[in-house]
Amino acid sequence: MNLSRRDLLKASGLGAAALALGGAGVTSASASENPAASTQLLPKPSGKRVVIIGGGWGGLTAARYIKKEAPEAEVVVLEKRDTFISCPISNEWLAGEVPMDFLTRDYFTAAKDFGYKMVQTTVTDINRETRTVKTTTGSIGYDYLLLSPGIAYDYSKWFGNDTQAAERCRQECPPALMSGSEHVALKKMLEDFEGGNFIISIPDGAYRCPPAPYERAAMMAHYMQKNGIKGKIIILDPKAKPAPKGPGFMAAYKELYPDIVEYRANSLVKTVDLDKKEVVVTITQEDGRTEEERIPYAAANLMPVNKASEIIAMAGVSQGKAGWGMMSSPTFQTKADERVFVIGDAVGGYPYPKSGSIANGQGHIAASHIAAMIQGRPVLKDVTLPQNICYSMLNKEEAISIGVTYSLMDDKDLNGNDIKVIKPKMTENNTRSTALGKTTHSWYKGMMSDIFGS
Ligand SMILES: Cc1cc2nc3c(=O)[nH]c(=O)nc-3n(C[C@H](O)[C@H](O)[C@H](O)COP(=O)(O)OP(=O)(O)OC[C@H]3O[C@@H](n4cnc5c(N)ncnc54)[C@H](O)[C@@H]3O)c2cc1C
Repeated sequence: MNLSRRDLLKASGLGAAALALGGAGVTSASASENPAASTQLLPKPSGKRVVIIGGGWGGLTAARYIKKEAPEAEVVVLEKRDTFISCPISNEWLAGEVPMDFLTRDYFTAAKDFGYKMVQTTVTDINRETRTVKTTTGSIGYDYLLLSPGIAYDYSKWFGNDTQAAERCRQECPPALMSGSEHVALKKMLEDFEGGNFIISIPDGAYRCPPAPYERAAMMAHYMQKNGIKGKIIILDPKAKPAPKGPGFMAAYKELYPDIVEYRANSLVKTVDLDKKEVVVTITQEDGRTEEERIPYAAANLMPVNKASEIIAMAGVSQGKAGWGMMSSPTFQTKADERVFVIGDAVGGYPYPKSGSIANGQGHIAASHIAAMIQGRPVLKDVTLPQNICYSMLNKEEAISIGVTYSLMDDKDLNGNDIKVIKPKMTENNTRSTALGKTTHSWYKGMMSDIFGS
């Protein structure tokens, strides 16, 4: 057990009440209780047990399909939240175009309908030698472990080791890349906004849902236009142009919101002066020279560098400073341990974007691999790789989309050995249309149906 990590979880208030739900009945413990390490979350099953950490897009997909393919196994999802709230479609909700109900699901119904168990608790440690996961409310053993814990924020580039400044920034300028209070606070900021600069800063490096901040800028501008709010949305982008590439977002900003959205390329946030309400930006010129500018804000949605959830490091299957999970196969089995899988946004080393579509596809693939291992069947070698499609709403009705298909191709490694690599191929539909707007909702409903059954 790593004490500092446990202390961190305690300090951040994550040691919440526990509620074990599903076939095993209900157990609960209050937040103030410190359960002995020997407390077992659930009785030992007669067969194999799969523990899934993270009840989001990836984890819940895997839970349903492992149980479907290997019904004899016990499948247990450990999730710290009480309610599922979707990030996809949240930008439409931010602009008041869909109700919160559209984004939320309870965890109980799907667990009951599909036969897996949901335990509301926070994971604090993983021991691969004893195959045990520790949580704030007890321990649980596993035969197979699947990690889909998503991302975490890294504010160190802006505030060094000053965790208080980082937390202040998260609360005053919520990044809203994770659902919950950050999204609700951002919506209130938009509703209270009376003019001036509303800054949206895009993270440096790999981050959750590449088109999401650009979609957010459009939907916030739509809200301002609709409500006659005079003010500017300034997008600070460390890149030279929006990802996905192509004219889609830039054309929409120009045609729909010429007086509202201002896009600034090659603009990297260096730090934030929270007292003066100024973002300090390093701007890189075309000739490589840099200059610094302080941009005042009335409100801000500042997204820091993304890294993997600390769960990946806890399991000892991470790599690099950002700590993304490292896999040995396209079925998301980790390099370090054949019993441990990583899916979703926490995956590293593959050319996959961090998207709900991909997390769902990876959940299906890992589920098949784990079910085959449980039943002693040969594991499928030639898997169908996950495919990505992301729709971005630009106003109440219109959207653009970007899709990526992936294939396994022959290649050589640095020593000239034959290897298989995953190659992406991008397709874009940058012409905004109401047809794509409608497809956005059908896609979302299809995903919710695959994960929750409705
Ligand atoms: C604004 C926005 C718009 C988006 N739009 C789209 C879109 O249109 N299309 C698309 O495909 N994707 C979209 N995404 C991306 C999508 O939301 C993510 O890629 C997806 O949620 C990743 O799934 P995941 O399972 O990896 O992580 P998550 O869905 O975040 O699930 C991780 C879960 O792990 C839990 N957890 C973490 N740590 C612990 C712990 N210690 N103990 C217990 N539980 C823990 C968390 O509470 C969380 O519920 C969008 C994202 C944002 C922010």
